[in-house]
Amino acid sequence: MQILSNYIGGKHIQSQSNRQGAVYNPATGEQIKQVSLSTAAETQAAIKSAQGALAAWSGVTPLNRSRVMFAFKGLLEKHKDELAQLISEEHGKVFSDAQGELTRGIEVVEFACGIPHLNKGEISMNVGRGVDSYSLMQPVGVCAGIAPFNFPAMVPLWMFPVSIACGNTFVMKPSEKDPSVVLRIAELLTEAGLPDGVFNVINGDKESVDVLLTDSAVAAVSFVGSTPIAEYVYATGSAHGKRVQALGGAKNHMVVMPDADIDLVSASLMGAAYGSAGERCMAISVAVCVGDEAADALIGKLQQEINSMKVGPGLGEAQEPDMGPLISRQHADKVVDYINCGVDEGATLVTDGRDFKATGNEQGYFVGPTLFDNVKANMRIYQEEIFGPVLAVVRVNSFEEALQLVNEHEYGNGTSIFTASGEAAHTYTHQVQVGMVGVNVPIPVPMAFHSFGGWKRSIFGPLNMHGSDGVRFYTKMKTVTARWPKGQQNVNHFTMPTMK
Ligand code: NAD
Repeated sequence: MQILSNYIGGKHIQSQSNRQGAVYNPATGEQIKQVSLSTAAETQAAIKSAQGALAAWSGVTPLNRSRVMFAFKGLLEKHKDELAQLISEEHGKVFSDAQGELTRGIEVVEFACGIPHLNKGEISMNVGRGVDSYSLMQPVGVCAGIAPFNFPAMVPLWMFPVSIACGNTFVMKPSEKDPSVVLRIAELLTEAGLPDGVFNVINGDKESVDVLLTDSAVAAVSFVGSTPIAEYVYATGSAHGKRVQALGGAKNHMVVMPDADIDLVSASLMGAAYGSAGERCMAISVAVCVGDEAADALIGKLQQEINSMKVGPGLGEAQEPDMGPLISRQHADKVVDYINCGVDEGATLVTDGRDFKATGNEQGYFVGPTLFDNVKANMRIYQEEIFGPVLAVVRVNSFEEALQLVNEHEYGNGTSIFTASGEAAHTYTHQVQVGMVGVNVPIPVPMAFHSFGGWKRSIFGPLNMHGSDGVRFYTKMKTVTARWPKGQQNVNHFTMPTMK
């Protein structure tokens, strides 16, 4: 069986670790590969490789770094289907969804191609007589990225293209559940002309992560995953003097106003709730209906659409399914436990995905699309992130009640409002305590030239991913104040310097 290991210094390096993880095809339930869970010493070797490449790479001109990114973008496009296949095989999402993930990742590479412009810094002339002041944006050094399973290509692509384009070197730790695509991406970076050691991949688990968080050679850590681990990564990395951006879990609400177009709401919700089997940090898992009329109409429509949904393997079907399996048996069982819990808590189970079996793939990790009505704010299925194809409908009486409900939730990643009222949309976008907001857009994932990040317990650290925040995160600002005096200057040495 193929053993996936590390990519260090521009080469695949077989790990000597005696710990291995299993990589499954979630559609069939079969183990298809093994992944090495690297030792602390192997993780240190990856950091050393990045450290060794730093001086030369940070000295490469931004224009030439940008040219490597251009070549890389071309290779990602050329190999897009091959990469999407790797994602679909190990993650389970349907092929076209895996292609979409890659498109969103490639857009960050396109953004990073603009690094000569993005790294220009700032200048002020004549801050004092004969004095100019300018700010340089310099690389921070060795950066580390730690990724979740649910976007095995896109989330790493949020991180390393901007970091590398800024002149840093990088150690990436993919999820141990679907690590192949990042190893293939590492080969493409080498093919694009990236010098050896600038981008390294270490496969592993907590043992590797802890080295990345504590090794003094790592300057910055980008993390995306669940909230408890994000909080741990932020606290540990920060305590070791690193800058850290750590994005966590979510529970995203869609507010449905009485004036919303219910056909549009229902069609939008289907993809937002059940696309990628709900394993998206921007999935809508709660629909908050204002008024019973909107709720009744929506439930009726959703029921119809759910009944015509096709669920099956993400690859190899003549007609591609709408939704594939979950990532693992353990996770599918956890989602079923949540559905049981919702029933016990008294929510109305409208459609039940617990017993779904995909014909011909009975051992796959499938859970069918599930819909609950009459969900209340004190229920666990409302409060906790399920990360599966389970949509909860909560009924409220007013816009104010909807806004309060969303604002009181511990997570604040994404949200949307569907309405025909400009006033409701304006008030919602201004007052909601959530980082990414859609108006008649169900999954408002910001484009690469904006920044991605939530609020509240969906993020730890002040700077978001990609866009201008990404460039800030991966650069240190240095501000120079320069005077080139002619003749004798009259300077008072003993008081606070002020400009005349
Ligand atoms: P996870 O937190 O289990 O794992 C994420 C990474 O952390 C993996 O690389 C894993 O190896 C590592 N890890 C796991 N346990 C660890 C530990 N104890 N110590 C150190 N490292 C550890 O997350 P997941 O299940 O892979 O991904 C799903 C989660 O990610 C969901 O909660 C989802 O909402 C979240 N997510 C958030 C965003 C966002 O942008 N906010 C995007 C995608 C996914």
